[in-house]
Amino acid sequence: MTLRAFLSRRVVTSEGVRPAALLVEGELIRDVVVPDRTPAHAETHDFGDAAILPGLVDSHVHINDPGRAEWEGFEAATRAAAAGGNTLLVDMPLNCLPATTTVAALELKRAAARGRCRVDWMAWGGIVADNQGDIEPLARTGVPGFKCFLIHPGIDGFTMVSEPQLRAALPAISRTGLPLLVHAELPGPIDSATESLADADWSCYQTYLQSRPEIAELSAIRMMLSLCREYQFRLHIVHLSASRALPELCAARSEGLPVSVETCPHYLHFAAETIPDGSTMHKCAPPIRNRENREKLWQALRDGTIDFVVTDHSPCPPGMKQLAEGNFRTAWGGIASLSVALPVMYTEARARGFTLTDIARWMSEGPAKLAGCDKRTGRIAAGYNADFVVFDTEREFTVTKECLHYRHPISPYLGERLRGVVKATYLRGAPVYSEGKFPVKPLGKEHRR
Ligand SMILES: [Zn+2]
Repeated sequence: MTLRAFLSRRVVTSEGVRPAALLVEGELIRDVVVPDRTPAHAETHDFGDAAILPGLVDSHVHINDPGRAEWEGFEAATRAAAAGGNTLLVDMPLNCLPATTTVAALELKRAAARGRCRVDWMAWGGIVADNQGDIEPLARTGVPGFKCFLIHPGIDGFTMVSEPQLRAALPAISRTGLPLLVHAELPGPIDSATESLADADWSCYQTYLQSRPEIAELSAIRMMLSLCREYQFRLHIVHLSASRALPELCAARSEGLPVSVETCPHYLHFAAETIPDGSTMHKCAPPIRNRENREKLWQALRDGTIDFVVTDHSPCPPGMKQLAEGNFRTAWGGIASLSVALPVMYTEARARGFTLTDIARWMSEGPAKLAGCDKRTGRIAAGYNADFVVFDTEREFTVTKECLHYRHPISPYLGERLRGVVKATYLRGAPVYSEGKFPVKPLGKEHRR
């Protein structure tokens, strides 16, 4: 087998950033050596000052396939993923039809994905009101964990779960040893806030923000922490927005509860103060809050209360965003950002003194661990899949529709000036993206836990 050497003066490993050569044989990294130790017979690719990071793992993506491929689909989502430096996506169990709440639905998803993916993928199983009996079969079929909603998910076909329904599911979840990912907002505070805003101007971002108060997140997190204490399952809070919940999450960790937390680039980049009225491109749930909140989320990444960052890539057809009407009450809530998350994060992280090692921990290693594939991907080390991204940190660019690569090029990041350009993405040794092109046929396959 041909030995290939990928060199850079800035290879990002868990131990830090250093000049190195990745020695790749077939799909695997055989070794990471100082450049001088590159074997003479190796086929050499020198990326110079461009950094080599582990391929990003995005454990929070809505691919919507099968059933709503017109919203996104495996082809478009994995194309955008490859262009954005990702090598593994984990698909959320809703918005596709059928929702991934049974083994039969998972098999339909596998059939839909076959031969159409440019990066690797996995699928979370869904927990809904009445599928407690499907939990262990789904675990045996290879899902890395489960996702549930404590509030209506904004789409029919995937039910939220009440506390009694959760209690019915938790013994089985606990037996699998797999994580439960929770959309942590409770309906009570949101319903009453929304009711009191019935006559408000719903083209104002502030109206939407007031309709989803921090207390909705905080009370949901309190409920989940108490269930975690009782049932001892692995709890993961998805897309944390409310910084008010951080002290209690931090205390839960000190207590030894098995809890982890993610947030998203949009909560770390945008701030409510600068979202224009009518700009439903910025609508997501929970909402983007104020600047002070954003800086507290950054502080939580610094102190480790937030473990990692994933996109919650959630596209929809343009009409559903109601861009002309600008009504925050009725527009689809979701931000699609698979292809630009790395430069968004690099731009913001660099300004706050973070390094590429932090980025790799937040965007590769952390999510890979949640999905249970951290022995295979998410790091640059001997024995790992040759999944990596070549990232030019010295170039800047302006986000245009051509940069997005997903099906409907809608994004609140359009027009933003960002630092860092993805030059190439390698999936198990193959160049799935290179300088604006997708040189190989779709090679992505499912990772089973
Ligand atoms: Zn989501």
